[in-house]
Amino acid sequence: MVAKRPLVIAVDLGGTQIRVALSDLEGQFLRRVACPTEAAQGQEAVMRRLVARIQEVRQGIPDKDILGVGIGSPGPVDALAGLIISPPNLPGWEEVPLRDFLEQRLSLPVRLANDANAAALGEWAFGDGRGRQNVVYVTISTGIGGGVIAEGRLLLGHRGLAGEVGHMTLLPEGPRCNCGNYGCWEALASGTAIARDGAEAVRVHPASRLAKLCEKDPERVDARMVATAAGLGDRAAKEIIERAAFYCGVGVANLLHLYSPEIVLIGGGVSKMGDILFTTVRQVVLERVMRPYRSVPIEPAALDVDVGLLGTVALFL
Ligand SMILES: [Zn+2]
Repeated sequence: MVAKRPLVIAVDLGGTQIRVALSDLEGQFLRRVACPTEAAQGQEAVMRRLVARIQEVRQGIPDKDILGVGIGSPGPVDALAGLIISPPNLPGWEEVPLRDFLEQRLSLPVRLANDANAAALGEWAFGDGRGRQNVVYVTISTGIGGGVIAEGRLLLGHRGLAGEVGHMTLLPEGPRCNCGNYGCWEALASGTAIARDGAEAVRVHPASRLAKLCEKDPERVDARMVATAAGLGDRAAKEIIERAAFYCGVGVANLLHLYSPEIVLIGGGVSKMGDILFTTVRQVVLERVMRPYRSVPIEPAALDVDVGLLGTVALFL
């Protein structure tokens, strides 16, 4: 495979893994490397590993062929100032000027985005959002994030903080969220929320399918296990998935009214549940949105784990 120049170095700085790829502008990867983030070792160690991986993929490539380095990082991120603000997934990182630090170390232009915004860009540039002017992307995994493409560009807002869809309050007296608020979409329907409710169900119903799957250890319950139990007819598990899907429907209905997208794309690990999730989401949306929004398709996102990396390539398009 021959990649066309210029190239972009795409970086996905995750809470558990650092992934770096050398890509052309069509999203073809020439090289890729990865290593554990080991965030617990602290900021300096992580930065050192990050720089080393980037140097690895750029080796032998003249600087003039590299447009820059695009980075997707856990939010909140000040995309305009190139700052990582204080992500729960990178403990101890407070207002870190990652862009300036890397530009100095690498002598290449660096662009920063929050990971969910980057994924939205990836779907827009290389996935099912391609060719559209207005796209809402939601990713449901351990947390819930998203990005809004409005009138042909990523909506950034003041300090680049727009699009934190997972922290819309959907249930004011709901469970506590990671962000400190109560009843955020993320606290009601993320993979973490589904696992939490699944663990509770195991405590209440020790003879259930779900209890069998986790060998009666609530600590072992994850979202996938709850979905499997639901598929096997476990009533409590089914209710948990349906409740999560209901809140996803409410969240999507809000997003339709706010942004009037041509399509809503849902990605992330929880979206892999497929019909059990999407059927309820679509039904709740139909019941709740005003008439003109009822025909907007709500679809699983096309791209898989590389969506974030591809999104950071799109920062240079
Ligand atoms: Zn929240």
